[in-house]
Amino acid sequence: MNVMEIFETMEYGPAPEAAAPGLTWIQERSPFSLFINNQWIKPASGQYIDSINPATGKQLAKVAAANSADVDAAVAAARVAFETWGKTPGHIRARYMYAIARHIQKHSRLLAVLESLDNGKPIRETRDIDIPLVARHFYYHAGWAQLMESELPGYQPIGIVGQIIPWNFPLLMLAWKIAPALAMGNTVVLKPARYTSLTALKFAEIVQEIGLPPGVVNVLTGEASQVGEALVRHPDVNKIAFTGSTEVGRSIRRATAGSGKKLSLELGGKSPFIVFDDADLDSVVEGVVDAIWFNQGQVCCAGSRLLVQENIADRLIEKLRVRMEHLRIGDPLDKAVDIGAIVSPGQLKEIQRLVNQGVEEGAVMWQPSWVCPTEGYFFPPTLFTNVSPATTIAQVEIFGPVLVSMTFRTPAEAVELANNTRYGLAASVWSENINLALDVAPKLKAGTIWINCTNLFDATSGFGGYRESGFGREGGKEGLYEYVRPKWESYETLPEGLPIAIDSIASDGSKSSSSQDEEAEGAVRDRAFVSSNGYAQTLPAIDRTPKMFIGGKQVRPDGGYSRDVYDPHGHLIGQVGEGNRKDIRNAVEAAHKASGWAVGTTHNRAQILYYIAENLSVREDEFARRIVQQTGCTYADAAAEVQASISRLFSYAAWTDKFEGVVHRPPLRGAVLAMPEAIGVIGIACPSEYPLLGFISLIAPAIAMGNTIVVIPSQQLPLSATDCYQVLETSDLPGGVVNIVTGERDMLSQVLAAHDDVDAMWYFGPAEGCKRVELASAGNMKRTCVNYGHLRNWMDVVQGESEEFLREATQVKNIWIPYGE
Ligand code: NDP
Repeated sequence: MNVMEIFETMEYGPAPEAAAPGLTWIQERSPFSLFINNQWIKPASGQYIDSINPATGKQLAKVAAANSADVDAAVAAARVAFETWGKTPGHIRARYMYAIARHIQKHSRLLAVLESLDNGKPIRETRDIDIPLVARHFYYHAGWAQLMESELPGYQPIGIVGQIIPWNFPLLMLAWKIAPALAMGNTVVLKPARYTSLTALKFAEIVQEIGLPPGVVNVLTGEASQVGEALVRHPDVNKIAFTGSTEVGRSIRRATAGSGKKLSLELGGKSPFIVFDDADLDSVVEGVVDAIWFNQGQVCCAGSRLLVQENIADRLIEKLRVRMEHLRIGDPLDKAVDIGAIVSPGQLKEIQRLVNQGVEEGAVMWQPSWVCPTEGYFFPPTLFTNVSPATTIAQVEIFGPVLVSMTFRTPAEAVELANNTRYGLAASVWSENINLALDVAPKLKAGTIWINCTNLFDATSGFGGYRESGFGREGGKEGLYEYVRPKWESYETLPEGLPIAIDSIASDGSKSSSSQDEEAEGAVRDRAFVSSNGYAQTLPAIDRTPKMFIGGKQVRPDGGYSRDVYDPHGHLIGQVGEGNRKDIRNAVEAAHKASGWAVGTTHNRAQILYYIAENLSVREDEFARRIVQQTGCTYADAAAEVQASISRLFSYAAWTDKFEGVVHRPPLRGAVLAMPEAIGVIGIACPSEYPLLGFISLIAPAIAMGNTIVVIPSQQLPLSATDCYQVLETSDLPGGVVNIVTGERDMLSQVLAAHDDVDAMWYFGPAEGCKRVELASAGNMKRTCVNYGHLRNWMDVVQGESEEFLREATQVKNIWIPYGE
């Protein structure tokens, strides 16, 4: 037998990791209790659920089934703990987190075995990927705890965070959620997935072991309907962080709408794996193995759509089949196994259902000749060819070891196919031509792009989605902002020195009856009194035809109606167009057509913002008079508002080429470019107060970052915004970048918030309106930024002009670029 023959006939022998330490640990503790206030508490219901080993189908343990009474107890414990933990100095928090990281390393083997037993994933993955990344996350965030006071000086913790995690990376998802939360001074109630609670319970032991103060971390096992939903709806929870299906993410968006709870959602994906004809095909084959057969394909960012350049497709598919034939499936604790078990019978059934559907829809299915173990829940690696891009298997997240392949001819076609999905979590690009790969990466709508690599993760580099893959990031500095809020913001009281609320003054000048309204109205009258200085009377007569500003042109409102605008005394001072759904749709279309704005140079965008400021300053007096006329404030106040608006334009012009992102150095030979990208089309409903400054403060950061926008100006005081038409027209701003639709704010906001081609919605108005916007946004999971009815002092630089708006106007894309021959 020669070397080649030996190589080709070589068989792996069994190389099992001992299950005994894991099983003993379980037996000593099962049935498991809940972890509240650093104590093991029996569930209020007295009920337990089974934890099953998916590789055998046999029961591993019984874990407590918490209910809403347990949720109340855990949230109460977290609230008490927050009073201290939230004020604990960063250095002390860092020490605790460092200890957690150390203890994870000390227990790494047990954790790896437990994870494989409970989830069914191969020990090679839990041992070499999941658990080291868990430790890394705590080390990395211990650093941020240490640095919080100096690096995030204007921020405070949010409070109590409810965290709901899935079963595909049980301990890793726990780490992604708990580490940043603790680093920023929050306390946590965590709900693991029903199928995979064991490593979270071992983690709770570590929390006890290192002496983390009671109540800082609480772990509630149980069912979604009992624990998850109660956590989401709990009034004393300040933030929900969720990873799981888009469907549940959408229901959580709806359930939290209007509650003021901060929300981050990491949802599903259907990520493209793009192979150009100059790629190194042997590396590509190994890449595909990692992309779709890692963790049995139960990975939110799995490269589940293989897009291959047509001229190499047959060659690559043939190589893949050979490789698939050699993949080994079986006991997850066997170190030589590539593919473990599917997490549950339900998940297995769902994979089979979708595969059957793929066959019915005409795609060609291929599976290796070997058979899966009959005990436990196994599914073979599966490859579909002849797939049409519109079919179910090309669009739906299968969440199993199933790859669908399609072909393309040109890079442009590759990008189009890649983006032909409602998701946007990740993408992988394979080409030996770095120019081509780096040209394609920014065109892909996804939060993470891997160049000539796939499924790489590190705590330095934020992870999260575009579009219906959710919003918010986990990891990196950007991930920290999910767990803090500005120091000036308070839940209980409105900031001092706020302007008057005029939401309640009807546009026809009629008086409303609630005491709050009367108070606001009284304030307006006071301002009107102060303004009896003649300016209001000296303005020119009304002679303008009310119009919208859409696509760079002034156009008549679709409905042909106008709305009257009154001064605080009830005198008619102007008219604006009465916008309707059609106007909004036209404006969104115009905004999309102007998408080239995002890819223009930042220098050019800065120049245009400066130019808008310059043109505004030429008409400073006129704009000040207009503010006086609408609000009745003093000329001095109005002039200050105009000055602040000009200054704000300067600030965002300045930021345009300075809010640029960073280069991360994760532990790999290479770098990760973290680039803030425009979100796309943003709908903006302006606050009622500060007719010019409120408008400028919102449009400037949005367009500075490359977005195109549809703006609804102050409903009661729209004339400052409509006066801006000419300023915008004469400032070289391309048509369609800013579109302005006047009219009834809440009706128009609803249309924008529900519009599937709008990517984000900002709304500054009453609490009820905020709730409606958040509810409607769930349709395409657009990002929202709302004020929950709280007033903001737009004159204050911290409140009115912070980096917060730049972050709201961007989403970070991390591009991984390994290098070396
Ligand atoms: P879910 O989204 O249902 O579950 C994720 C987590 O949310 C679990 O802890 C679950 O609890 C909990 N949960 C479920 N419903 C609610 C609710 N209404 N309120 C609060 N919490 C809730 O995922 P599944 O486990 O059902 O998997 C279904 C599909 O979701 C998969 O086939 C896959 O396509 C996708 N998925 C995507 C993931 C990702 O990382 N993007 C991860 C997991 C699944 P419980 O376990 O008790 O049901």
